[in-house]
Amino acid sequence: MRLFPRLLLFIFVLASFAYSQKPPTPIDVLGFTPGDDKKLASWNQILDYFKKLDAASDRMKFEEIGKTTMGAPFVYATISAPENLKNLEKYKQINAKLADPRTIKSNDKLAQSLIKQGKTIVLITCGIHSTEVGSTLSSMLIAHKLATSNEPEIQKILQNTIVLLVPSLNPDGVDIVKDWYDKTLGTKFEGTTPPELYHKYVGHDNNRDWYAFTQVETQLTVDKIHNQWHPQIVHDIHQQGERGARLFLPPYLAPVEPNVPKEIIAGYTELGNFMADDLRAKGFQGITTDSTYDAWTPARAYSHYHGGVRILSETASAKLATPITVKFDELRGSEGFDAKRESPNFSPVWKGGEWHLRDITNYMTTAAFSLLKHSADNREAWLKRFYAIGKEAVRPRKDGELFAYVLPTPQNVEQNLKSNHLLGILKRGGVEFGFVNPANIKNTQFQNYLKSIISPLTQKNGFDQPAVVIPANQPYGNFVKAMLENQEYPNLRDASGNPIQPYDVTAHTLPLLLGVEAIPIYQPFSINYSIPKNSIRKGNPIPEKFAVYRSHNPSMDEGWTRWVFEKTNFWVVKPNAGIIQNREIHDENLNFKYNSIIFPDQSPNQILNGYAKGSMPDEFVGGVGKEGVANLRKFAEAGGTLVFLNRASNFAIEQFKLPLKDVTRGITRKDFYIPGSILRTELDTGNPIAKSMPEKSIAWFEDSPAFEVTDSTNVKVVARYPERTEDILLSGWALGAEKLRGKAALVEVRMGKGKIVLFGFRPQYRGQSLATFPLLFNAIGN
Ligand SMILES: [Zn+2]
Repeated sequence: MRLFPRLLLFIFVLASFAYSQKPPTPIDVLGFTPGDDKKLASWNQILDYFKKLDAASDRMKFEEIGKTTMGAPFVYATISAPENLKNLEKYKQINAKLADPRTIKSNDKLAQSLIKQGKTIVLITCGIHSTEVGSTLSSMLIAHKLATSNEPEIQKILQNTIVLLVPSLNPDGVDIVKDWYDKTLGTKFEGTTPPELYHKYVGHDNNRDWYAFTQVETQLTVDKIHNQWHPQIVHDIHQQGERGARLFLPPYLAPVEPNVPKEIIAGYTELGNFMADDLRAKGFQGITTDSTYDAWTPARAYSHYHGGVRILSETASAKLATPITVKFDELRGSEGFDAKRESPNFSPVWKGGEWHLRDITNYMTTAAFSLLKHSADNREAWLKRFYAIGKEAVRPRKDGELFAYVLPTPQNVEQNLKSNHLLGILKRGGVEFGFVNPANIKNTQFQNYLKSIISPLTQKNGFDQPAVVIPANQPYGNFVKAMLENQEYPNLRDASGNPIQPYDVTAHTLPLLLGVEAIPIYQPFSINYSIPKNSIRKGNPIPEKFAVYRSHNPSMDEGWTRWVFEKTNFWVVKPNAGIIQNREIHDENLNFKYNSIIFPDQSPNQILNGYAKGSMPDEFVGGVGKEGVANLRKFAEAGGTLVFLNRASNFAIEQFKLPLKDVTRGITRKDFYIPGSILRTELDTGNPIAKSMPEKSIAWFEDSPAFEVTDSTNVKVVARYPERTEDILLSGWALGAEKLRGKAALVEVRMGKGKIVLFGFRPQYRGQSLATFPLLFNAIGN
């Protein structure tokens, strides 16, 4: 009897302790304050901090939404006023209606009342690039201030916005970088970047995945945050080089991809400039806008096609958590500004000096609160802009406007929907599509026209097969158009006539990359939204024993190559790509282990020489070396297959003295420049490497060689570029394309009993170029 009241009292004390407990500061949990010199936090420590803050705060909801590639918890925090947190579903619904104005029949009065009630949804993403350590550390400082401060400005932020905070978009990399940093701390290698990719498959390219959605971290963020909340503002916090501006903020440099709505451009311009001015007023220096970073590729900007602005910030780096000193003379500008001279888009000049992790977290947290202040002060304006974007997107289309894209129904709709095929990508991107059977279309003249288009697309399945129809007027119609049309990148030159380098690549046309035809239609017709059933596609047989070469100099293309073999659904049984490193290549018994070895895209020097002595701990120094080259030659002569991708082809040409010449060598950029574009190739389908391929295919051309055969005795050309210059470029930008006329893009060179296959392009480009995956599979399967 006595036990009961005591137990109740105990429970009461526990409960009241939990609620009255002061929210912990980061130092209470980590033992240091984020931003302190030479201190990084592990992913477990960060999770621990957020959990404890969550337990002690009524302003925050912290949740795990899935597992990362390597099995760690993938998490985010929702932070807002307690009364907002109790009504999250209500605010989610309000936002969903504004995102898709069809739900309120585009009624402006209804919209106005929703805008009055709604909150600005702000997504803050940190740590996608794990060596840019400041943002994940800053996430704890941002969360703590939002959870504890009673300043009027913070109260207003909490009342007017719902903040979705992702402490890291790549939790696996947090530990990869911390482990390396701690291991090298106090040695001469302190502050170097790890000799491995900081994401198991894709490294830095994890931020080139926002339309292909190949990686689980991208999928979780899109499915469980973006598509649930439709944020008006996405603040993506990064770091850039040590010697440039201290901070970059939007607006972005031209070109802006033409399907980014004008309201988005207005939004990031206004917000970026507001933040820059606010930071300058607070005494921060070295801030640039409208420079360096363009807004061309959707691969970094999901939100630009989904109603929200992307506010990229790039703060100058230190050496991971180790401070540096930058002399004024060492400062370097980049496209659009000079780091030593004040200009309208760069001020005030930073004079150089010490640069600590604390400087980085100060810039980052101040910028984030500046962004949140604007989000809260202009809540109605942000929601109005968001509604306007949606309303324009769903507006019925008139004759002559793009009405829809039509494409053949894939052989296996179910599989296509689940994977990195076209329908799967579009579905994940929030796109609606239906099917049309030409026989059911009433308008006779149009029916004939449509039949003439659809017929060739569907003849494999018989003429009555429906085609997939993707309407242009839908909430994310801009995403559809951006992904399905060919890119015409502007011919940008500097004052001396040299091409201005794009920040990333210039093409992203999915139908070309995936090998699917998609035809724009400019006349309305009716669409049926039910999905037809059809047959199941067979997978490829398992390739023979093969390995992918992994250098200690991390190569993203190596990761992508493994990903393509391990994670795509092209196989009856998933193959397990072996990994081969320098030490094993130095072993003479290569032939007993593998039938083929793939060398992913990497510079010939990195493959041959690796890290120089003294630049890394000894175990990571060196490359394949002369000894390895001799072993690889023996491996081929004894019947093995060596496959070289893109730049690695030049390693093979040089080291094995192949009868080939790279015709792109020694030409200046002014005369020849193709920075990530899709080109046309013509295949010899009689060659086993091109078996079951169409005669016309594509090449992802980026820092690529093109081959001229100097002695054809042992060489077979499998793919070449067209003879006519105007046929070469399909999407993107190509200067001097005539230099590729008739040149070889893919060759096979006999060597003893084996062979060497050279790809003058990236057949598995970022996991996206499904159209050319079979060439790679066939190359190692024959
Ligand atoms: Zn970055």
